[in-house]
Amino acid sequence: MCGIVGYIGNQDAYPILIKGLKRLEYRGYDSAGVALLKDGVNVYKKRGKVADLERHIANKDVGGTIGIGHTRWATHGEPNDTNAHPHRSMDGKFVLIHNGIIENYGRLKKTLEENGYTFTSETDTEVLANLISYMYDHGATSFENAVQLALKKVIGAYGLVVLSTEEPDVLIAARKGSPLVIGIGKGEYFLASDATPIVEHTNSVIYLSDDDMAIIKKGQLTLKTIFDKTQEPVVQELDLDVGEIDKNGFDHFMLKEIFEQPRSILDTFRGRVAKDNKEIVLGGLYKVIDDLVQARRILIVGCGTSWHAGLVGEYLIEDIARIPVEVEYGSEFRYRNPVIGKEDFVIAISQSGETADTLAAIRMAKEAGATVLGICNVVGSSIPRETHAGVYTHAGPEIGVASTKAFTAQVTVLAMMAMVLGNKKGHLSTERYNELINDLTVIPSKIEKILQQNDKIKEIAKVYKDANNAIYLGRGYLFPVALEGALKLKEISYIHAEGYPAAEMKHGPIALIDENMPVIVIATKDKSYDKIVSNIQEVKARSGKVIAVVTEGDEVIRNMADHVMEVPDSCEMFSVLTTVIPLQLLSYHIALMRNCNVDQPRNLAKSVTVE
Ligand code: GLU
Repeated sequence: MCGIVGYIGNQDAYPILIKGLKRLEYRGYDSAGVALLKDGVNVYKKRGKVADLERHIANKDVGGTIGIGHTRWATHGEPNDTNAHPHRSMDGKFVLIHNGIIENYGRLKKTLEENGYTFTSETDTEVLANLISYMYDHGATSFENAVQLALKKVIGAYGLVVLSTEEPDVLIAARKGSPLVIGIGKGEYFLASDATPIVEHTNSVIYLSDDDMAIIKKGQLTLKTIFDKTQEPVVQELDLDVGEIDKNGFDHFMLKEIFEQPRSILDTFRGRVAKDNKEIVLGGLYKVIDDLVQARRILIVGCGTSWHAGLVGEYLIEDIARIPVEVEYGSEFRYRNPVIGKEDFVIAISQSGETADTLAAIRMAKEAGATVLGICNVVGSSIPRETHAGVYTHAGPEIGVASTKAFTAQVTVLAMMAMVLGNKKGHLSTERYNELINDLTVIPSKIEKILQQNDKIKEIAKVYKDANNAIYLGRGYLFPVALEGALKLKEISYIHAEGYPAAEMKHGPIALIDENMPVIVIATKDKSYDKIVSNIQEVKARSGKVIAVVTEGDEVIRNMADHVMEVPDSCEMFSVLTTVIPLQLLSYHIALMRNCNVDQPRNLAKSVTVE
């Protein structure tokens, strides 16, 4: 959440910052702002999108070769011009952009007020700007030292970049809990919350770790901790292509990412299905696999869509490998008192690898002695760096705020893990193992076929675009699909939607059904087929509208349902990967017809780096 950019070098900073903010806008879009150092600091900020900021700035002085920019996802104070970042200290000497939450900002603010400081915004960030100013005036030996002294007083999370009129040749960046990447150019440096604004300038990057601070001048970078311990910068090469972060002719990132799934799932397999489809090799688990096979139980931790993937993981691992699995929300796990110990394995699932609650949950699990694994998409992000082992999903950058291809990639990794474990535990015969590998590797071609129904799904969307509510039903593996389908609809179209296990309907939700209620039933031919056909009858008997996701050629449900969306027959265990596709498309078209911003839905942002 929230995008940070910074530049220091010999080029004009403004165009680089604006372009960077546009790349990062998916991380927050409540307001945007920039600060440029040039004989003093010019700060421009505006509620709304980066485009609103650009209009606001037109014809103003945007000179300067050092600057910072921010796109906000508000936590403290409503989204307005005043609360937008960058924030200046009262004396105007320090200008700051910040991602995260300063939890003790109230106490700090009170102390600063007692010392004569006044505030213009409601943000926690402005407190930090003034705290740096206070430290500068009370004992700090330099700008750098003032930042160190201030950050030592801070409880909470931050990724920040700060500049000062007192030392106008330097940018200081620091991180605790919120991501920050530094791109190394020729005599210039680029800073950002993630690598997407950096990749078009350079492939060499340094990821900051918690408590790190970088003191950056043109052509010179010093890395240390806020406790003044020198750090050796580890320069890494980005494995990211600029083409991957463009829309490539699609109207929206979400649509592009839905259509990318045949390829992204292949990328998840790539190099992992070996020996002519006879074996799965997950190199990232090499160190732990023998112990994982013996695990007493596995805990899967995630949030949102990743939690849904985790639920699929539970079904897969219990089904195929017979290891008990529990699935937890990161936010619940970390604040209750879970029983967890050395014998446990925890799998953290997060697209961004930065999800604050999931990160906190794995830290807690590590402290309790558990072995922690990650399933993440963003290479080099915090979760992969803090886990003992893990598997990258390699789905490519996901920019649409509503997750699509990250979900199917996570499920693919979990399916591969379940199969490896099942085989090693002896629950999967070699024959069945090979069969399942084949079934999984043909999923991308099945998804291609489903995508060809895009126009037909658009027609169905027209019928339901004005709905106020929707119910999604599924059983077994398709229950998590019902949850995910409902989440997609509510997050981008703002239609209230609920996912339920189909058999639970009669314990409450059936009371909601009338002729205005669309009921989306995921009803492919699996072992619960007859039961779910009965559930459809129950909905129809109460005049509900049924939109069913069915196996190709299913005439029985076609004759009962108002609409059907077909998917090719596939192995029940992997049907999640096919059945979720029409639901993603349905939500996309409904949202578009309701004039919603599908890539940047209201109140949401990608990469939830705050609690
Ligand atoms: N807490 C800060 C604010 O509300 C930063 C939020 C963000 O990460 O965008 O302004």
